This record gives sequence, structure tokens and C-alpha cells, in this order.
Amino acid sequence: MKFTPAKPSLHGETLDSLGARLAEAGEPAYRARQILDWLYKKRAADWDQMTNLPRSLRAWLADTFDLESTALVLNRQSEDVTDKLLLELRDHSLIETVLIRAPQEGVGLDHSRKTICISTQVGCAMGCVFCASGLAGLKRDLSAGEIVHQLIQVCRREDARTPRARAELASFDNIVVMGMGEPLHNYDNLLRALTILNAGWGLGFGARRITISTSGVVPKILQLAEEPVGFLLAISLHGATNEVREQIMPINKRWPLEELLPAIRTFSEKHGRMVTLEFILIEGVNDLLEQAAKLRDLADDLHAHVNLIPYNAVEGLPWKRPSLARQQKFVAILQEGGVSVTLRREKGHDIDAACGQLRLKTERDRAAGPAA
Ligand code: SF4
Repeated sequence: MKFTPAKPSLHGETLDSLGARLAEAGEPAYRARQILDWLYKKRAADWDQMTNLPRSLRAWLADTFDLESTALVLNRQSEDVTDKLLLELRDHSLIETVLIRAPQEGVGLDHSRKTICISTQVGCAMGCVFCASGLAGLKRDLSAGEIVHQLIQVCRREDARTPRARAELASFDNIVVMGMGEPLHNYDNLLRALTILNAGWGLGFGARRITISTSGVVPKILQLAEEPVGFLLAISLHGATNEVREQIMPINKRWPLEELLPAIRTFSEKHGRMVTLEFILIEGVNDLLEQAAKLRDLADDLHAHVNLIPYNAVEGLPWKRPSLARQQKFVAILQEGGVSVTLRREKGHDIDAACGQLRLKTERDRAAGPAA
């Protein structure tokens, strides 16, 4: 479903598109860079902050564009330093954006590795059975501006904490497009948003530090392989055989492993980068040691990195995480095969950090209405 806001988000404009709008309005071309500077270097939240623009131009901008396409509703910080932002859009939909800090030995929190996880859709149509985001299906795609504005929200919070981080996104290590939604189902808006994040006039964030994670939309993986800018790719595999993958990811019926694996290889060869295979470990479903052996062979064949993620329980769903001993056995099989593997220490367990849970809980509370 498409939502047409009263005004488009200014954060969805590129240097060229904004320049063209300004030219139509009779404004000089250099104003575009001044405006983008206010958005991305100074994170302006109000038109009146843009003091080097004439009052008449500020009024035109306010009439033409939306400056705040997301609003912060809730910010939950967990003990393990995951910061989860629940954001409300203009149509009152809710999305989640997460900042994950991984403290490094011997340095403070401000010098930890920081990864921002962003959403691309409200809800999700893919129906992975273990996921809270897909429980209510897809509501709509996010606009490019709504995708970009999530980063602005995170930056503003970080600016307030550590003022020296201001002026660019360089103090963040990675952006992962792994939040709510299937990013490749919102391909055009995603690519436009990533262009803005990557551009020197935008947030200036290197493409090699941006990972797009997909459940395996084969034609779009092949399209992405042809893009000139090389973003990183992660595949939510979660099953090393069609039988197991099909049980938990309906997309496998549409694009089984025989089609997915060659597409991954094509992407990897075109961009010369290692692809990551994400594998959520669910007890009794995909944690059998035969799955580990199959995964080892697939990863070895694709020269891929494997990221194992012990399942984070979702209220109302029956799935459980395997024991630590089982997780470690699984890792050992991959390592013995010479595969590059990480076992993710989960983040945010105490703040409903499993994808989509905070949103789900808030929507249920809203539907229930105020407590008597
Ligand atoms: S895991 Fe990702 S692709 Fe699957 S339903 Fe959840 S958000 Fe969608």
C-alpha cells in the first residue's frame, strides 16, 4: 500500500533533484548545497535555524517540503548498550531504528564500534515464521526521506551525547539495512536513500560500510549486482537445505537455493566482496549438526562469511534458542571446515530487540487503548 504525504520529505531529495526544484522556483543553484548542509552537517530540525537562507526561501521550503518525516516516540537503552528508537511517521505508522554499540576492550563507550540498523518498510510481506516484523504483514514502503531521516534521528541523539561526533557520520562504523521490511522490495527508495547517505553533499558514509540484508529476492540481487556503487550484501539464509529453509521462510518456495546461490555468486564476483550468510539458530529447526555441515559446504563454495545469531524469543511465537553447547558445536563444525564465522552475542535482549518487537508491543498497547 502506498502512502502519499501532504509534502515530500526534504531528506529524500538529492543535490540534482533539489537543484531542479529550486531552479523552477527561480532560486540560484548554490542554494541546494546550503540547504543540504543544514540537513546533513547541522541536522537542522527547524526552518528558522537556516539563517543563511532568505526568509522567503525558508517560507517556500516550509510550504513545499516536510522537514521532520519521523518523530521520536520512545527511546529504550538496554544494559548491553543497544539503543532502540521507536519512530512515528506522518500516517502514525511505527518503525524501529537501532543503534548497537560494541564496546572495545580498554576504551569507553564513546569509542565503541557503532552500527546503525535501519528499516525500509512498515511491516513486512515475507512472512518468515520466526519474525515479529512480519506478523501483521506489510503496511507500506518507506519513502527515501523516511529511510534517511532515521539516520538523522540517531545522529541527533549522538550529537547530544558526544558533540565532537557532529558534522558527519564518520563516528559510526556501519549501517545495516536489516530492520523492519524486505529492503529489495522497496528497491528504488532504498537506492535513492543510500545514494544520499553515501554522497559527499549528504551524510558522506562509505558504501563499503553499508550492508543490505535480503531474505533472497533473486531478481533484485542480480539488479543490485549491476549497480555501479558496491554496497555490501548479507543474505538471510537460516536454512542450509530447501527442506529446512522452506519451513521457516516462505520466500524459499519462490526462489529456492538452486536459484539463490548462483545469484549470490554473481553479486560476489561483480563486486569482489565477501557476502555474509545470516543464520538465526532456532532449536530443533535448523540447529542440527547436518545443517552445520551443509552450511559449511555452501559458505566454502561461495567464499562467504557466516554470521550465526542465536534466536531471540518473540512473545507469542513458539521458537527457542539452542543451548550454548549446541551453538558452540555448530560453530566448531564451520571453523573446522575453514569457514569464516562469527557467533553474534545478541544485543538488546532486555528491550525487545528482536526485529519488530518494540513496535508490535506499542501497537498492541495503542489498540487496547488507555488503561482504565
Ligand atoms: S526476517 Fe526480515 S524479511 Fe523475514 S519477515 Fe522479518 S523483516 Fe521480513
